[in-house]
Amino acid sequence: MLLAYSWVLVACFLCFQYNREKQYKAELLDGQLQIYNAHLIDALANDTLDFSKVEKQMPLAGMRVSVIGSDGTLLFDNTLDKLPGQNHLGRHEIAEAMVRGHGYTVRRHSAVNDQTYFYSATKNGDIIVRSAVPYSLTLQEVLNADSSFLWFMLVVTLVMSVAGYFATLKIGRTITRLNRFAERAERGERIYYEDAFPHDELGSISHHIVRLYAQLQQTMNERNREHSLALHEQQEKTRIKKQLTNNINHELKTPVAAIKICLETLTNHPNLSENQQRELLRQCNEHNERLINLLNDVASITRMDDGAANIEKADINLAELVRHVVSTVKTDMHISLSLPEIMPINGNRSFLDSIFRNLIDNAINYSGGSQITIVLESDTAKYYTISVADNGSGISPEHLDRIFERFYRVDKGRSRTIGGTGLGLSIVRNAIQLHGGSIQASNVVSGGLKFVFTLAKH
Ligand code: ADP
Repeated sequence: MLLAYSWVLVACFLCFQYNREKQYKAELLDGQLQIYNAHLIDALANDTLDFSKVEKQMPLAGMRVSVIGSDGTLLFDNTLDKLPGQNHLGRHEIAEAMVRGHGYTVRRHSAVNDQTYFYSATKNGDIIVRSAVPYSLTLQEVLNADSSFLWFMLVVTLVMSVAGYFATLKIGRTITRLNRFAERAERGERIYYEDAFPHDELGSISHHIVRLYAQLQQTMNERNREHSLALHEQQEKTRIKKQLTNNINHELKTPVAAIKICLETLTNHPNLSENQQRELLRQCNEHNERLINLLNDVASITRMDDGAANIEKADINLAELVRHVVSTVKTDMHISLSLPEIMPINGNRSFLDSIFRNLIDNAINYSGGSQITIVLESDTAKYYTISVADNGSGISPEHLDRIFERFYRVDKGRSRTIGGTGLGLSIVRNAIQLHGGSIQASNVVSGGLKFVFTLAKH
């Protein structure tokens, strides 16, 4: 398009220039003839013009000189012996001279003497003097425009076209790339930012557009991913909450039913012996304890589910907290502590307390061993790694991964009798996670169960 446009422009310019030059040359010749006409007019006015000598004094050979009256009649013509009676006012150069004082015709065939001439006419008062040069091949060449100019312009245009073609080719490539990018963006394909555009202005703009788009796409993808993750998390939370509610219902039924039976028996059988009544009240109390434990554990779990943001943390000496828990536990087992005097941690006192209390209570209730060992395994800038182990029976490997699940019990009967809710280890794991750590359980080779967990100091 651009090339065609340039060529049309150059063609128009050349056409105009060509005609302009032809006109200029004709005017140049006309100018010279006008001077000659003026000379003849002067001679006529001074009455010094000798018509018989006109031919001899002509500046060019074969010239025709005519004198025409203002009514159009031919008064003198050096090429004619007999003057024709034709009116000459219709001749172009004469008509022009009548209006403007002078005029010329580049080429006209004269029927009177059967010759083609270049005419130039000048009017002065009542007469018009007209001189004419035969339109020969030489004159035609003189009057023609200079063709070297045309060739020069043609070569220049050609060179500029080739240069322009290569210059636009570069721009074209950038535009093609940009177009391909737009198509891919429209199809929703993933756009990766690549430095593949030429280092010119258009390339730089394209480069910025693609980079901006790639960044936008990445941000949107990340937002979508985060959104779906949040959605998944939300769904998971709802599912767990529902499961918890179902489990709580189930867990509540047994103690509530047992309390009901005890109370009904007491009410319906007033004649029971004092021992029997005491036994029923003891059972009532035991089930009530279970209910309280369950409600406490559920409260803890719910608090933890609400998230870390709602949990208050303070600077605590963990070693002192563990020693305090150990001192309040009633057991025949020997508890050995291998902790430094001071273990600073920023944490929640009640949750840290329940971690150690649950692990120690479990070892007492389920291990059947005689020894509990609490050791600080490692102390790095960020974490404490602590182990709580017993020397009891341990648990079969298939249960190891599941004991942290809510309401999961290895030995259901024993757990219930002891007053366990099946939530203890789940609370432990949640509390550890809220302190930036994790927990694993494994069986000790020499016997017993060992829990190893980390706690972030801050
Ligand atoms: P609960 O609240 O009923 O005590 P937990 O979640 O604390 O339940 O424990 C889950 C199960 O893991 C228990 O039912 C018990 O069978 C088993 N368990 C926990 N700690 C030990 C241990 N030290 N030795 C043997 N078994 C254990």
